[in-house]
Amino acid sequence: MMNQELEKYIRSIKNFPKDGIDFKDITTLLKDPKGLLQTGNALYDFAKEIPIDKVVGIESRGFFYGPLLAMKLQAGFVPIRKTGKLPAETVHQTYALEYGSDTIEVHKDAIAPGDKILLHDDLLATGGTARAACDLIEKAGGEIVQISFIIELAFLNAREKFEGYDLRTLIRYD
Ligand code: 5GP
Repeated sequence: MMNQELEKYIRSIKNFPKDGIDFKDITTLLKDPKGLLQTGNALYDFAKEIPIDKVVGIESRGFFYGPLLAMKLQAGFVPIRKTGKLPAETVHQTYALEYGSDTIEVHKDAIAPGDKILLHDDLLATGGTARAACDLIEKAGGEIVQISFIIELAFLNAREKFEGYDLRTLIRYD
């Protein structure tokens, strides 16, 4: 239902950031008053019945809706960042990329043991980033009660990596 309605706001850019990638650009959704509002409302609808202590957003496109969702859910917001950006003591998680690896971090005192966490990012592709974020949050003592994305590249089958989690997406590309 929501899929078709919101998909029209997404712009696809061929060969960005490198050859062979069909990049899904959400800035065209964000700049549109209806696109911005309907997406926020739909993400909120996914989570509104669940008690949530903190929304955790993944750098950087998880920072658009993360704080907005947190405000509506009366939860706190916590950023997960690339390594070296957070000033206080952190917990970190390293994960494999197609070539090499990457590390993400969260402040050690940002997640209290038992905190109910909604993890949010703009797009689920291979799931590598979100999987590492789940491991990081759980290492910090958080309990993930939902994971939400605006877009799911369903043909990459990332859902397999999130068995047992409540994973929600608004727009799916098959
Ligand atoms: P994954 O780790 O699931 O392979 O990649 C997801 C991460 O890469 C997300 O943080 C997302 O922001 C970014 N990403 C990968 N491909 C795209 C894309 O086509 N569009 C956007 N907006 N982000 C992407």
